[in-house]
Amino acid sequence: MPRIALGGIIHETHSFAGTPTTLADFQTQSLHYGDEVLRAMAGTRSAIGGMIEGAEARRWTLLPTAYGAAIPGGLVAEDAYQAILQEILRRLAKAMPLDGVLLALHGAMVTTGQLDPESDILAQVRRVIGLDTPLVVELDMHGNLSPATVELADVLVAFDTNPHIDPHAKGLEAAAIMNRLLRREIKPTAAYAHPPLLLAPQATGTADLPLRRVHERAGEMKANAEVISICVMAGFAYADTPFTGASLVVTTNDNPGLAQRYVQELAGILWQQREAVLPQFLPPEEAVAQALAQPGGPVILVDSADNIGGGTPGDGAEALRAMLALGVEEGTIVLADPEAAAACWAAGEGAKVTLAVGGKTDRWHGAPVIVTGTVQALSDGVFQCELPDNHFAAFFGQTIHMGRTAWLRAGGVNIILTERKIPPFDLAQLRGAGVSPEGQKMIVVKSAVAYRAAYLPIAAGVIELDTPGLCSANLSRFPYRHLPRPIFPLDEARFVP
Ligand SMILES: [Zn+2]
Repeated sequence: MPRIALGGIIHETHSFAGTPTTLADFQTQSLHYGDEVLRAMAGTRSAIGGMIEGAEARRWTLLPTAYGAAIPGGLVAEDAYQAILQEILRRLAKAMPLDGVLLALHGAMVTTGQLDPESDILAQVRRVIGLDTPLVVELDMHGNLSPATVELADVLVAFDTNPHIDPHAKGLEAAAIMNRLLRREIKPTAAYAHPPLLLAPQATGTADLPLRRVHERAGEMKANAEVISICVMAGFAYADTPFTGASLVVTTNDNPGLAQRYVQELAGILWQQREAVLPQFLPPEEAVAQALAQPGGPVILVDSADNIGGGTPGDGAEALRAMLALGVEEGTIVLADPEAAAACWAAGEGAKVTLAVGGKTDRWHGAPVIVTGTVQALSDGVFQCELPDNHFAAFFGQTIHMGRTAWLRAGGVNIILTERKIPPFDLAQLRGAGVSPEGQKMIVVKSAVAYRAAYLPIAAGVIELDTPGLCSANLSRFPYRHLPRPIFPLDEARFVP
């Protein structure tokens, strides 16, 4: 029976997020060694779960090394990375001789010590297993690929979907490719293209342009029996590395000319569609003016840069600043600001207060706004969701706790100050605080997509805001140090496929 080793390190790194990702963050999510990898990950819909299923179906002798995955966040601490990598290498060495190695990686990891850890992993693994042992690697399509990574793997496979619904299917595919390598049926040869194109996460849906068009053509190419794998990598714009951005890999069976032709054609299609990566949003004052000019209400002002579900603090106050500046009557915003909520509680209902609200957690989400207003109502911040089925109720149940909450009215603007940050998934959040959503001219929501189920049914319109924040689609806000320049849309860039 072939002896196949298995392992992986998975992290999508936001280089600009303040807090590093530690070994404890991997332990909280998923960190397993040896046979524990099989016990924890077999039967799951993950990439490595698909690999295990594909291996077991062929009755291979599986030699699990180590598998670590943490939720997206700041730079991975180098010692955490080394701890997992060294465990993989130690167990690989012990498992030798091996017939093949399957690895599940993300592709957009950055550590405090390395800008391209994925190629480091592959180089270190090669040092143990040599160049002749087949190595097949599965990646998230948000990975930023370096030429070294393409060089060091025999075959790369990547998710074809975003939202990701095919990691398990791609794990099965990785095992099937490994099977062909073991039987010496194929001799992989890969070609790589890296057009100078940076996609904000909001532009990486595979049902939307530009990626939809690329996948349509890649699907036709895959019908060619000489094609082994095609990776359409959107990249992850918040990981600041020399390889950040979109890339494509076509692997054929010993046909370098075909691989090169196909990869250039796909890169050309992506480049042609590049205008589709430009975010459609307005500065807050323009957005508020446009909402005021529209008949009826409420107009939903989408503050996706402060997308609470993406890990932001929920206290960005730039949209509030704009509503106050333009004298909006019946505009509403919810801000997670325990300090301001406590000040309102101390003052009591009916009191007039002047205080700084929002913009307190970090320097990414704008400055606080000084407001003078009246404390309209105080509440315990507990509400029951109106929507029977919503994404967040699946995790938290129907009863939501915002902590001590205050409705502060400044001019015509309703500011709901909460102790805890809660994403805008249900209208009861506003009603519970005392504000009627249907009676508003405009409502600010701190979300990219999750707000839609609750708010679209009552919306008179939707406007996306260009506000500061760690989840901003406006990539010119980030102080890149390693990103290759020029790159579209930050610069005038040229690309001849
Ligand atoms: Zn992804």
